[in-house]
Amino acid sequence: MKHNATTEHIQEVVDAIKDMGYEARPIPGGQRTAVGLLGNDGRVDSARLEGLEGVLEVIPVTHPYKQVSREWREENTVVELANGTRIGTSDVVVMAGPCAVESAAQIMDIAHQVRDLGATVMRGGAFKPRTSPYSFQGLGMKGLELLARAREATGLAIVTEALDPEGAKAVAEYADIVQIGARNMQNYALLRRAGRLGKPVLLKRGMAATIDELLLAAEYVLAEGNEQVILCERGVRGFDTHTRNLLDLTAIPVVKALSHLPIIADPSHGTGVRSKVTPMARAAVAAGADGIIVEVHPDPTKALSDGAQSLYPEQFAELMEQIRPIARAIGREVTAPLGVLTHG
Ligand code: PEP
Ligand code: MN
Repeated sequence: MKHNATTEHIQEVVDAIKDMGYEARPIPGGQRTAVGLLGNDGRVDSARLEGLEGVLEVIPVTHPYKQVSREWREENTVVELANGTRIGTSDVVVMAGPCAVESAAQIMDIAHQVRDLGATVMRGGAFKPRTSPYSFQGLGMKGLELLARAREATGLAIVTEALDPEGAKAVAEYADIVQIGARNMQNYALLRRAGRLGKPVLLKRGMAATIDELLLAAEYVLAEGNEQVILCERGVRGFDTHTRNLLDLTAIPVVKALSHLPIIADPSHGTGVRSKVTPMARAAVAAGADGIIVEVHPDPTKALSDGAQSLYPEQFAELMEQIRPIARAIGREVTAPLGVLTHG
């Protein structure tokens, strides 16, 4: 709509779209409002809309995904968390923590350490998607409770994974961000459920998924009314055996151009090798990632999952020091550390 279009003008466009048999979704922006047309089967007569008062232009969204596209919303989406962390601004957000919650002592210890080193979000799986059914599957509900206690003690926001639509509600009650893992990127029932949880979603790229498939998976969440989605590049299957996956950092600028959603990188699962995590974290920040998610364990040699790719706390401290000047070089800042708490 033109910047001076009135609410009546916008309503007329909405009515016209409904009259044509489609769904209309007004998208207010800083400069102007856009009105999205959903359900276009290719027969939309744009002339009818162009002729209405207040209409600036009719932009066909050429991609198979609509609501996640930059054409749909020009401005970056910012995901806001209860502890003040904002993802999708000029700040680079750091999420850190163990692969899995293992015990009260482990999670509380690492929570304090990553918070003191500058992370504002803690990761930690309570429900773990393991390749083998005989591997540690996570502490489940107990793990969620331990995460909530660690949040209370540190002020960190919590990101943790939901494995299935049935369990998603319980995870959302504890988590600040509900993670959908790589193995579940195309679990459409889970994606739809995540769209109705009322919590931000971290959607990881499937290990054999194209960027368009990632964006279409995110479209499922937005289509259910949840726009608070963070995408995550975590590496795709490659043919080399020196790393666990091939971290596709090109996906970051590609997604930035195609979508308004924030995108972060996971150099831990992206490489699978501790010594490669910090170099790829630096590269991800340089490539324009809105954040990184990193596995850190108080003692990686004792980790119940992903020990080989988990950083020692001292290594995480170094990583933090190294990404700060890189963020600054491209006009960004690593999110300021959380303030000192007097309790907990
Ligand atoms: C994880 O974050 O612990 C995880 C299982 O990641 P991914 O889904 O990317 O493999
Ligand atoms: Mn892991």
